[in-house]
Amino acid sequence: MNKTAILHECKHCSGTGTCSNGADSTSCVACAKRNELPFWRHSNQIGLMCGSCGGIGQAESLTERLNKRIAPVLALVLTGGILALILFSTISQSPYFSEIMAFGSAVIGTVMGYYFSRGNNER
Ligand SMILES: [Zn+2]
Ligand SMILES: [Zn+2]
Repeated sequence: MNKTAILHECKHCSGTGTCSNGADSTSCVACAKRNELPFWRHSNQIGLMCGSCGGIGQAESLTERLNKRIAPVLALVLTGGILALILFSTISQSPYFSEIMAFGSAVIGTVMGYYFSRGNNER
């Protein structure tokens, strides 16, 4: 799995990190709001930080953002399901308990490792 985020040039600021989408190359109202400027400074501001990418000039792709939102939910469901399976096999004294335990801890370990390393990369 590719852990590094795929970045694209920000469409809003064309990779400059500064918004010039308003009239006469000024910054647009949306970005002025993102910069938490008072309403009387929403127009005719030049060189404001791009609100879409946060001034870095690069934005994550839509699929990347979608993956980030779905993956934690998937991991949670997966971990929950395995825990339930382990619990069930404990209660029913399943003969496959050791196999389920080995499989379950391997999967949970992988999920945990994936999320911890991912979190460290983002920080
Ligand atoms: Zn931008
Ligand atoms: Zn803008």
